[in-house]
Amino acid sequence: MSGVSVTKAAEDAVPAANDLVVLSNVNKHFGALHVLQDIDLTIARGEVVVVIGPSGSGKSTLCRTINRLETIDSGAISIDGKPLPQEGKELARLRADVGMVFQSFNLFAHKTVLENVMLGQLKVRKTDKQGATEKARSLLDRVGVASQADKYPSQLSGGQQQRVAIARALAMDPKVMLFDEPTSALDPEMINEVLEVMQQLARDGMTMVVVTHEMGFARSAANRVVFMADGKIVEEAAPDQFFSNPRSDRAKDFLSKIL
Ligand code: ADP
Ligand code: MG
Repeated sequence: MSGVSVTKAAEDAVPAANDLVVLSNVNKHFGALHVLQDIDLTIARGEVVVVIGPSGSGKSTLCRTINRLETIDSGAISIDGKPLPQEGKELARLRADVGMVFQSFNLFAHKTVLENVMLGQLKVRKTDKQGATEKARSLLDRVGVASQADKYPSQLSGGQQQRVAIARALAMDPKVMLFDEPTSALDPEMINEVLEVMQQLARDGMTMVVVTHEMGFARSAANRVVFMADGKIVEEAAPDQFFSNPRSDRAKDFLSKIL
């Protein structure tokens, strides 16, 4: 069974109602820089999309527009059939539906690991304290750091902190998880423990957008690879196809430098 045919068949079978994240003709500028150019991207429920491309190509900006950390100049973004709200309570709710994990773990330094995973549940989801505690402990267990619950982030290794950040995002029951180079700041020996948690999440059916330079992860976990350069989606393909037979010169050039 090749990955290509499986993904193709799955795509053919996916009705539009299964589209979870839809970007239509999205454009964004930073001053004179046209950082996102006519981006069309549809992510189906349960799909794992890996975004790769040279530094400065707009990958982080793409992620940040999906949870409205950045506004867009034109085009449209919808999550689960609803247009991305501009502000207010609707925006807070939407943000809770979109989990984000950054390169820098961004944990609250003055809160314990357990409190970090409880906070959003209490504040945004209005979960009661006992419910939030139980869920936080269960998620910390799921990412393999249950024994660290009462420590502060600085007492944990980078790999452990990033797994806590994943647990914290999952605590909001997001519909989609965005990962922006989640292992780039980690020492090499800690990369796999984070990728394994992400692999498991993918197997559990989470919809994921992952910006990464980890091509092994892309090959094994992605349903689709999106290759960006200069603010454009240059190429999209199933991982087998992309890595063995990239079509564009930009992708060929990029792969020749990193593989
Ligand atoms: P990538 O994640 O692919 O490396 P980014 O999305 O971070 O790319 O950045 C794309 C381009 O936009 C880069 O040239 C970067 O310098 C620029 N950029 C990113 N954020 C801002 C910002 N807030 N203001 C101005 N320019 C920015
Ligand atoms: Mg980036």
